[in-house]
Amino acid sequence: MHFLDQAKIFLKSGAGGPGAVSFRREKYIEYGGPDGGNGGKGGDIVFEAVQGLNTLIDFRYAQHFKAARGGHGMGKDRTGPGAKDLVIEVPVGTQILSEDREDVLADFTEVGQRVTFLEGGLGGRGNASYKSATNRAPRQHQPGEPGEEMWVWLRLKLLADVGLVGLPNAGKSTFINAVSNARAKVGHYAFTTLIPKLGVVRHKGREFVLADIPGLIEGAADGAGIGDRFLGHIERCRVLIHLIDIAGEDPAQAMRVVREELAAYGAGLEDKPQLVALNKLDLADAELGAAFADELRTAGADEVFTVSGATGEGIEPLLDAVLTYLPDRTATETNAAEIEESEEDGDEWSPI
Ligand code: GDP
Ligand code: MG
Repeated sequence: MHFLDQAKIFLKSGAGGPGAVSFRREKYIEYGGPDGGNGGKGGDIVFEAVQGLNTLIDFRYAQHFKAARGGHGMGKDRTGPGAKDLVIEVPVGTQILSEDREDVLADFTEVGQRVTFLEGGLGGRGNASYKSATNRAPRQHQPGEPGEEMWVWLRLKLLADVGLVGLPNAGKSTFINAVSNARAKVGHYAFTTLIPKLGVVRHKGREFVLADIPGLIEGAADGAGIGDRFLGHIERCRVLIHLIDIAGEDPAQAMRVVREELAAYGAGLEDKPQLVALNKLDLADAELGAAFADELRTAGADEVFTVSGATGEGIEPLLDAVLTYLPDRTATETNAAEIEESEEDGDEWSPI
């Protein structure tokens, strides 16, 4: 099972600049020869796979990419300046598909890979290039070649950097909804979430993919549940957030149950750093929270946070701690309003 992040974008390479019509003007020379230069080449559309990006979310807001046109040819046989190429940065793992999504047009598998996707138009010929024995004063010139344009789909398989684990009802779905652009189902009963829900979290200028990994517990390790479908996600995770219901029966016991399942699951899961978070803090007073946190430390938790997915309390220090486990990634500029907007965009996050 893979999760897709995708975006449809419009691309247009730059048109070539027109060639010039110009004649030399020199003292004492009555008919100077033609000296109109050629137009400059239009900008190419280039894609480059870069490190540090892991979603296509920014392409939902910037959908049109047009390279500049080439400069006009000029007198004195000067060629117009070529336009700069428009370089579009994409995460590694991105594929470019045709508008009907039938064909893969490009596939980015490693950092630094560059593909010139649409060529800019060539500049038109200036009149100097039409000079011949029979035509010493040509006025012909060409407009630049037009650029190429097309709609394409960008598609990226998302893999989670951070896994969210915990017993059913610990508040995982609520938490992922609170911190990311995902929209997971929230329910009062166990196993509401039957597929891992991925969300992109942006925190302090950085971004990471968080996966709600349901069904990990209670036999998932034996292949009985749905947990083993998520191996790809789990292996990639650098840190786990382990949510524990503060209002549950016995927080230390809940933590042990999940830890045993992680160990039984294998795949190095139990060795991943684990940030334990006592959740639903809004249901308890601070004193109880602190007492439970001590209990969890005694039971073997390294770092314990108290949070509420419902009110957002305590989430910031938890996310700060998550960042310390992730490679330094800087999110591209996106403002909060845009992220809000993406939350509406439910079906772009559909599983296939
Ligand atoms: P999951 O099974 O771990 O995904 O848990 P859900 O997010 O579906 O939440 C289970 C129940 O706990 C739902 O009724 C939620 O409304 C409730 N819940 C989740 N987080 C909080 C919280 O921070 N505070 C309170 N009071 N309730 C919460
Ligand atoms: Mg859930």
